[in-house]
Amino acid sequence: MADDYMTLQLLAVGLAQIQLGQQEGAWRLPDVPAGLPKAWTAGMRRLAWRLLEQRQHRLPSHQDVFRWCHLPLGEWPLDLLVAEGDEDLLLIEGGQLSAFADQSASLILSKDPEAELVENCCFELLLATADRNATTEEEAQRNYVHLRSYFIEHTVVADTAMTELLRLYRAKDPQGRPWVKELFLRAYRFQPGGGTVLLNVCSDCRNLLAEGDSLCGTAGCTGKRVQDTWEALEGVYVQHRATRRFFHDPGLAELRIINQLRAELGDRLHPWWGMDAVDAAVDFTGSGEMGRGEWWAADVKDHASGALLGKNFRWDPRATAKRRFLVLPAHRFGQHRYVDDLVSEMEGRVAGVEVVSEAAFVGQVLARFRGCR
Ligand SMILES: [Zn+2]
Repeated sequence: MADDYMTLQLLAVGLAQIQLGQQEGAWRLPDVPAGLPKAWTAGMRRLAWRLLEQRQHRLPSHQDVFRWCHLPLGEWPLDLLVAEGDEDLLLIEGGQLSAFADQSASLILSKDPEAELVENCCFELLLATADRNATTEEEAQRNYVHLRSYFIEHTVVADTAMTELLRLYRAKDPQGRPWVKELFLRAYRFQPGGGTVLLNVCSDCRNLLAEGDSLCGTAGCTGKRVQDTWEALEGVYVQHRATRRFFHDPGLAELRIINQLRAELGDRLHPWWGMDAVDAAVDFTGSGEMGRGEWWAADVKDHASGALLGKNFRWDPRATAKRRFLVLPAHRFGQHRYVDDLVSEMEGRVAGVEVVSEAAFVGQVLARFRGCR
């Protein structure tokens, strides 16, 4: 029997589209059903079929389902067919789309060429900025690594930092605007106010905390609320929610792994190899060419649902490494049922990819590297 992930993904797309059209923070379902996105209606239809199968003949209203979206999946008033490890997940958490909802929506939208995803726009601008400011492939890759790390290390930047980036990346688009500025304005929003700017951030992941928040809510983060200052001329740039969700937060584990390996491996480590075909590749024998000699490669994934990740995971065929790893951050690897759900969904669909924790990956790479010397 088909599971209910597609239904949840459609509802998540619907919620994302509703939220996009309304004020962030205070969003709700439109009063007229005609104003509802197609994806939401399609999700509702699938829910209705599931209810009829379970011999429940009272069909829920749109408002009912919107309320259910605030409940853990295991508490919805029907039996959703989802993995056991996912029963605690919610679509709406603290009045915002949850990481699970964002990831669910993005997995389905990325297959739709018409879909306008903030995430996609940013990614394309990132590639373009790296590429147009380079004369060789190596240079483009170096630019990519720098800009990708920048998004992970900087949740808030003073306007003066933009001047610095404009000095480093001078290439302009056909309209005469610097590519890097376009990228920056897409990924961050300007918050006016010059002088010393005081903001509350998380001590570990550096995400901005709203008034009243004591925790950042970033998966796996145990940081505390601290105050930090920025010296700005006219204001600061603050990361957009989508940049946080799709570049910054999942990037924390990627950068952690890269930094741990880089110290010892030097140029044998290729961060975000092939403009992000994989997150880390290691050239143990120094051949300089993926697939020749001994290469290992890793894709690092930080998804809320192991089952949904398993259903959608694919290895980039360009990364023809001898050993291939799907690396999970510690907070996912240790989660109840997570690895079982992930592996059972990958079975028979993805072959030759080892699922490991970040610590195990780093440990195995360093051991092999020391053995090569
Ligand atoms: Zn944090």
